Amino acid sequence: MILYGNEVAKAIEERSLALIQDKTPVLAIVRVGENPSDLSYERGLTKRCEKMGVTIKNVVFPLDVDVDTFYASIDELNQDKTVHGILMFRPLPKNLDNERARNAIAPEKDVDGCTDGSLAGVFTNTNKGFAPCTAQAVMECLDYYNIDVTSKNVTIVGRSLVVGKPLAMMMTSKNATVTLCHTKTKNLKEACQRADIVVVATGQMESMGASYFRQGQTVIDVGINFNETKQKLCGDVLFEEVEPIVENITPVPKGIGSITNSVLVYHVCQACSQSN
Ligand code: NDP
Repeated sequence: MILYGNEVAKAIEERSLALIQDKTPVLAIVRVGENPSDLSYERGLTKRCEKMGVTIKNVVFPLDVDVDTFYASIDELNQDKTVHGILMFRPLPKNLDNERARNAIAPEKDVDGCTDGSLAGVFTNTNKGFAPCTAQAVMECLDYYNIDVTSKNVTIVGRSLVVGKPLAMMMTSKNATVTLCHTKTKNLKEACQRADIVVVATGQMESMGASYFRQGQTVIDVGINFNETKQKLCGDVLFEEVEPIVENITPVPKGIGSITNSVLVYHVCQACSQSN
């Protein structure tokens, strides 16, 4: 089965609408500079938010913004009761200190799940703050398609703070047995072959073909890469080779990427419904 993301996104949107009812959630998007990929992501997200009745507040700074001005604005957004969620495009220019910026957002408004507080909530399974959206998108996808992770062997390839690490904890909380792989992992093929569920988030375009997989597996491809030769978006898994072998696989595009934004909007709606 091909696990399409749009159906999952639709279900999450319905949950979001049920949360807000007559309230108007507000998401502040903080951007420094005019990076084309930030702008393109912002356009897509704005469209999604408009559809969902979420108001966007754009907070834009020039690349040479003064450090104090920048952090004073984040503080203002933290205090502003009309703003429910804050999304900050990163990486930021070096003088703004990415680590400081990541933790500058108030936990209750950290809808992108980037602060240490939100990550601690994921690690302790206490629902403090919000989980990183992509990691949650993977869990939502499995849940929607009734793929239970309990007692399953799950191999995650990629250990970033936005995908692999939090996902390993979320899977563990759901009683999966997790193997977390990275560039120093020995016998990656073996780790993938023995898993019931393989999640790939390496950023290495179409680098995992048939030899990594076997029949009966579920493969979740988080990767989003632009293939210049094929002139289209591709995943980290070589879909054409892997899809005929495994039981379930997410496509790219129309897979996990389609779910991530709706998880972000869901978080904004949650933050709004929890606010006074
Ligand atoms: P990072 O570059 O931050 O992390 C990549 C991870 O993959 C690292 O842990 C790295 O290991 C590991 N890795 C890289 N190459 C290999 C390899 N050959 N074998 C084993 N492990 C490897 O990437 P992100 O986590 O930010 O993103 C991963 C992918 O997911 C990208 O394609 C990105 O575009 C996509 N993405 C998709 C989103 C969505 O909404 N669908 C959102 C965010 C990202 P090491 O730690 O040793 O360097």
